Amino acid sequence: MSDTITAVRAALLHFIADPAITGDQAYQYFPDGLLIVKNGYVDQIGDAEQLLPLLPQSITVNHYPNCLITPGFIDTHIHYPQTGMIASYGEQLLDWLDKYTFPAEMAFVNQAHAAEVAEVFLDELLRNGTTTALVFGTVHPESVDAFFSQAQQRKLRMIAGKVMMDRQAPEALLDTPDASYQQSKALIERWHQQDRLLYAVTPRFAITSSNEQLAKAGQLLQEFPDVYLHTHLSENTDEIELIKQLFPDAEDYLDVYDKHQLLGSQSIFAHGVHLCDDQCRRLAETDSALAFCPSSNLFLGSGLFDLAKMEKYGVKVGMGTDVGAGTSFSLLQTLGDGYKVSQLKGQQLSPLKSFYLASLGGAKALNLDSKIGNFAKGKEADFVVLDYQATPLIKYRLEHTTDLAEKLFVLTMLGDDRAVAATYIMGQLAYQKEKV
Ligand SMILES: [Zn+2]
Repeated sequence: MSDTITAVRAALLHFIADPAITGDQAYQYFPDGLLIVKNGYVDQIGDAEQLLPLLPQSITVNHYPNCLITPGFIDTHIHYPQTGMIASYGEQLLDWLDKYTFPAEMAFVNQAHAAEVAEVFLDELLRNGTTTALVFGTVHPESVDAFFSQAQQRKLRMIAGKVMMDRQAPEALLDTPDASYQQSKALIERWHQQDRLLYAVTPRFAITSSNEQLAKAGQLLQEFPDVYLHTHLSENTDEIELIKQLFPDAEDYLDVYDKHQLLGSQSIFAHGVHLCDDQCRRLAETDSALAFCPSSNLFLGSGLFDLAKMEKYGVKVGMGTDVGAGTSFSLLQTLGDGYKVSQLKGQQLSPLKSFYLASLGGAKALNLDSKIGNFAKGKEADFVVLDYQATPLIKYRLEHTTDLAEKLFVLTMLGDDRAVAATYIMGQLAYQKEKV
């Protein structure tokens, strides 16, 4: 069988390390680059002038002038069932869950509804250049079947799981420790490692899971060591107070999970806004990751994430939109909010670090950096084409700019889905912006 080769020409940027640690050595940049994909995997990158003569005559090069190609964005925390209730007014976390989230999630008992939302959700991810996400379902196993079916058809690398929740929520959304174990196990056996799909054991958060249920989550991780653990941690001060009442024996919020063996290199905790030094140290020593969700933290008034502190302790961090508490599917907008949150903490989130967090940093947080996150040879070729002329204002602002960091910064401040010219999955065009 002959090889399928795709060649794409534009400016090219990818990271090989964290720019906060290795500075300018952390990335490769080709102002006029060529990315060659063979059978869905990265084959070569470099200067277009050098690589073009080596390409067989029969290959058509997709040329994107005034564009930048980066690895596809990675969203390390998002809820697909909340697509239809994004931008719901007026509450902080616990009341927002009761008033908006739980009613929306009840509708997912119907698989046709779940399939419809999954389709809108995945369309929206691709329109925003997001090619991999760590995704919450609802308590209903059907929600995960619907999501994975759609993701599989689109050949996407996605991680998802059924919510485990046995208290502190409406009756219609509760399972039991046993039922959640059996249903999660059946979903793992059906979907985990099928094509590019991976499973995450997903207790919503410690408030809505009894000790018995958290123990079942730990048991699943023991029985299936390569599945993920995905939950929330230390988002809101009222939430933390309630955790203290519900788990009087735990030292702190993280310790509730730690006691059930839920920490490790496949564990991703969303938020971590209010963590003490000991909790940061414990996350780092267990190689657990945090999802930094600035838009959501601002929207729900939860607090300001301390990225510098996580860097100091060596905690893995990825970016999360946390839709529907996050107000955009766009990682560019989320990075813009991340910059503003850092400013309020007296820190500076550099544009290079931003793009690292949305690509290789996210891949490392998900322990998937051997497969995605940059353009190293052999990686899965998911990538996004960003348009430097996406809007009149972006075009005007960038007209006389040659500096890469400045261009990246403008994209995170002024860009959103309009800045995504195209999204490729395994070297194949999966989304293209309509020309207006
Ligand atoms: Zn969330």
